[in-house]
Amino acid sequence: MDKLLLIPGPSPVVPRILEALARPTVSHVSADLAAEMKTALANLKAAVFTGTGQPFIFAGAGTLSMEVALLNVVGKNERVLVLSQGYFGDRMGQIAEAFGIEYDIIRSPWGSAVRPEELRAALDRRRYDVVAVTHVDTGTGACAPIREYGEVLRNRDLIWIVDGVCATGGIEERMDDWGIDVVLTAAQKCFGAPPGLAIDVFSERALAKRRSLPSVPGYYADVLRWLPSMIDPQKYFSTHGVNEIRAFAEATRIMMEEGMTTRFDRHSRTARAIRAGLKTLGFGLFTEEEFQASTLSVVRYPEGVDDALFRAKYFEAGFVVAGGLGETAGRVFRMGHMGNLTTPQVLAAVEALGLVLRSMGKSVDPAAAVASSFSILGG
Ligand code: PMP
Repeated sequence: MDKLLLIPGPSPVVPRILEALARPTVSHVSADLAAEMKTALANLKAAVFTGTGQPFIFAGAGTLSMEVALLNVVGKNERVLVLSQGYFGDRMGQIAEAFGIEYDIIRSPWGSAVRPEELRAALDRRRYDVVAVTHVDTGTGACAPIREYGEVLRNRDLIWIVDGVCATGGIEERMDDWGIDVVLTAAQKCFGAPPGLAIDVFSERALAKRRSLPSVPGYYADVLRWLPSMIDPQKYFSTHGVNEIRAFAEATRIMMEEGMTTRFDRHSRTARAIRAGLKTLGFGLFTEEEFQASTLSVVRYPEGVDDALFRAKYFEAGFVVAGGLGETAGRVFRMGHMGNLTTPQVLAAVEALGLVLRSMGKSVDPAAAVASSFSILGG
């Protein structure tokens, strides 16, 4: 039986995108694929609101796009400031460490994010050449105030990297207006495409920074090696993920048809609807209210509900959610609500949450939960 994938990525892939993926593989340097790549690149620029940025799409996953972002903008003897609100911010620190890059990290408590004032204070204390932040941490469900970070970072001589893996395409990221230098992301979350692509969009300033560096500690990860094949995708550097690129291009067409603002609004409405249902059933949220991302929910159980048993039963009912990471393991489940989820899928997921709780002896009303979700989705 097919399950509905409600983990915080990969998200479910709709038939239109699956059909694009299933078409016969063509040459990676064909005019056919080049046209698809150009569509994907152009739509990607529109999705992050940049006119002058340079997008890169290559086979890999989000962690590669993190590595690419960092390696291409950090020079010798330069220093990076990482803001971490959880698991993936910490990973950015680990990547810096793996390459011997000097960095400092400011961590917020799990469930919140680093405040703009803390960023300002850190920049006043010490010179940094690069600042890397996570937009939404998929471990904690916390969304960082990146627009406010942008105000702090404006007119400073540094490169600003945003990890948008769990946000890009689902939550607003305005590269040009907010002064973001690199948005790094991946195909499998808010784009609703299958996993397999790493994505980085470099501002003119970020690309100029790369050009100013004599070399970077990467070969496949060097954006200057990729650049000719992004300008003319028929030029070979390394084999394009042909089918994944066609699927991703189709995913971006769906986005453009929907419109980015409508898409962001839909993500936020879906999150509110799911949370209304969760609340009716007696679940709580791990993430502090001020920081709750609209792309996933990190959910606390009602008293006495066993995590492993609950998730096994929910799986049997046809829905896949993820367990907690790090300090939250066994105490929460994580539910993704990104990409191209439909209203019937959301309502069915909420109803099944209630039915599973009831089967575990809780006196809850699944229909009331569905009604509270529907009042937000339907209204
Ligand atoms: N950054 C964030 C915010 C993520 O959520 C993830 C994946 N969950 C990654 C980076 C790493 O992406 P991947 O698993 O595709 O390597």
